[in-house]
Amino acid sequence: SSQNISQPIVVPKEFFVAALQGKQRFDTTTVTFSPDKELLLRVLTMPVVENKTVAYIIQVARSLDTVQSALDNFKAILFVLLPLVVFITGIISAFLAKITLNPVDRIIKTVQKTTAENLKLRIPVPTTKDEVQRLAATFNDMLERLEKAFSSQRHFIQDASHELKTPLTILQGELEVTLKKIRSVDEYESVLNSSLEEIKRISKIVEDLLLLARFEDRETALDRREFDINRLLQSAIDELAVLAQHKKITVAFSADHTITINGDEQRLKQVFLNILDNAIKYTPSGGTISLSVSVTSRRVEISIADTGIGIPHTDLPHIFDRFYRIDKSRNSSGFGLGLSIAKTIIEAHQGSISADSVINHGTTFTISLPVTAPSH
Ligand code: ATP
Ligand code: MG
Repeated sequence: SSQNISQPIVVPKEFFVAALQGKQRFDTTTVTFSPDKELLLRVLTMPVVENKTVAYIIQVARSLDTVQSALDNFKAILFVLLPLVVFITGIISAFLAKITLNPVDRIIKTVQKTTAENLKLRIPVPTTKDEVQRLAATFNDMLERLEKAFSSQRHFIQDASHELKTPLTILQGELEVTLKKIRSVDEYESVLNSSLEEIKRISKIVEDLLLLARFEDRETALDRREFDINRLLQSAIDELAVLAQHKKITVAFSADHTITINGDEQRLKQVFLNILDNAIKYTPSGGTISLSVSVTSRRVEISIADTGIGIPHTDLPHIFDRFYRIDKSRNSSGFGLGLSIAKTIIEAHQGSISADSVINHGTTFTISLPVTAPSH
């Protein structure tokens, strides 16, 4: 036995049983050296075989003191240090979260301050190149779109009230002057007739505005059905034939076969009436208006060309705007709503409308419509 062990260690007998059978074994056991000294030992008992019999048994033991104290240390770390680390990490994360979410706070403040009146407000975009930056940029884009939509609505209301004010002022003036003294029956009749004219103008504007407002929600306002587009064009031409004859304008159109499309027949007729009405209005007498229809498997294209006064290059992009009229002296009767109504109706059908013009030579409107209704 080792020299540092003053007295022999007594280990349980069964340790040797396996060794005598030629097997080695490991054990953990507590050994009492003296009444106040107990040691936890890890013991290896191993036979040494000579001539097929067990000649010696070697027993090696090692104190588990260091392992035990390491385990005790580990326990202390686990129960004291770990909660401390969790606590400190918590505080640091809360602090970091606050810094990172600061921009979100600013977004919230800006959004809270945003109303229809101050859509000009923008969120400061952080330069962090992360989701918060994208969120701020997206918010700003949305604000810009809303601002545009609101301002176009505001202009529309301003224009509409302005257009309504003129005939109303005329009406009021005429009636006031007439009422100043007793008039003859003829005078009354003439005033009533001109009042009626103004009222018709006002009704027409209100009707057009209502139509445009109704089409704000697009698709829903359409009453779709299958119909022959050639027949529709012919009936629009027939309706305006008197006007054209009056100005000695030839309308050239040959509809020899049926082209069925799916759409709102009444509304589309209104589109063609508007365009033909313009063509007649803005073409000097003796001119020609020619219509042609071409069709592919999916779309039908209608072009309406006149030999009229044309539209200046600079005005061409605006003719579909509400209340847009080129040089009011060209014609006094319109409001500038005809083409914007046409465009609204065509777009509700998922179609497109465009114009091409050469000044003093003529204008061509091209309308393209899908043949079948879109499936949702
Ligand atoms: P409304 O149609 O409301 O009675 P309008 O005819 O003046 O009024 P739009 O039909 O919207 O208004 O047309 C806008 C403007 O485009 C017209 O004022 C006119 O100057 C010009 N325009 C439209 N069609 C033609 C055309 N075929 N030839 C020349 N100018 C045209
Ligand atoms: Mg018009």
